Amino acid sequence: MSQQVALHELKIADLRAWLTHYAAVISAHAEELTALDAAIGDADHGANMKRGMNAVRAALEAGSFETAGAMLKKTGMTLVSTVGGASGPLYGTFFIRMAGAAGEATSLDAQALTQAVAAGVEGVASRGRAVVGEKTMIDAWTPALEALHAHPQDLAAGTQAAASAADAGRLATKDMVATKGRASYLAERSVGHIDPGASSTALLLQALADVVAGGGDDGAESVADVAGGDGAEQTEGAAESAEAKPAAPTTPPAAAAPAAPAAAAAVPVAENSGVGIVLVSHSRAVAQAVADLATHLIARLDVVIEIAAGLPNDALGTDANAVAQAIKRVAARPGNTGVLVLEIGRAHV
Ligand code: ADP
Ligand code: MG
Repeated sequence: MSQQVALHELKIADLRAWLTHYAAVISAHAEELTALDAAIGDADHGANMKRGMNAVRAALEAGSFETAGAMLKKTGMTLVSTVGGASGPLYGTFFIRMAGAAGEATSLDAQALTQAVAAGVEGVASRGRAVVGEKTMIDAWTPALEALHAHPQDLAAGTQAAASAADAGRLATKDMVATKGRASYLAERSVGHIDPGASSTALLLQALADVVAGGGDDGAESVADVAGGDGAEQTEGAAESAEAKPAAPTTPPAAAAPAAPAAAAAVPVAENSGVGIVLVSHSRAVAQAVADLATHLIARLDVVIEIAAGLPNDALGTDANAVAQAIKRVAARPGNTGVLVLEIGRAHV
């Protein structure tokens, strides 16, 4: 590798490099993340993150961004609308809050980055209502933020320390009992497994440190194995996922591709809902906007919203089949006791 000079600030192009690098890292580690989730969740974290980050990469390629805030907001909104699962609203909130703090800036130095990450982590904490020690991504975010605070003038040292701290935080989740999220269904049986969300957070911070250090050009190799070097983890996970099955949804992954507009796409999905919501509209854009708004307003992770709106090629109309499938999927979520179908935009005269 050639001589590399560490960055002192993150310009918009560097933020773009971070997110693009992370998309590659997630693709390379998707199976490991899913194996971790198989042990204590529903075996979809890798697939969720891969779908979300691929959509982010496409959205960033398609757009040009004048400010750090605009790029980070686009990232967050894309994750919220493409990732089914708790991690979608959580990472979405992280980037949207980070965007709010970054605002009109066109570059972030160590201090500005720390402030932006602090806002993001605050968002994750208030959205998920998790604190340190509950075996979630918060166990990686919190020490990472502390490490950034400890290096207010040095972007390279700060991001490197944050990556190490997040990695230590994710390893520490192994001995914790999960009390938040899907893993909490297993209670004591969650002990002995590393949390998948803490692992994807550690990868995000390592990807940032790599880009700041001048790397991040070659995809995923520089990021450590998230399975934690514990060879038994994946086998154990596979065995235990069978036990976890009753609590796991049989829902197929959300059809989030914009190319399939008539299909129902899961927006923020999580567990233990009372009543799930299906948004029906002739316009997919209108339904998506309502879902985005609801996602901002609802501070609960356990509300399921699905969209069944529009016809192929962005045509207006509703597809009864897509509506029926969406209702079935929402009804099948564990813990759901009912489905509320909301039709948007119909004029009753
Ligand atoms: P789901 O659990 O809905 O299948 P994912 O598998 O994509 O979603 O993400 C699971 C990860 O989300 C967990 O490993 C955990 O780190 C994180 N998570 C779940 N619930 C919370 C919460 N309330 N607060 C913080 N993080 C959470
Ligand atoms: Mg999962």
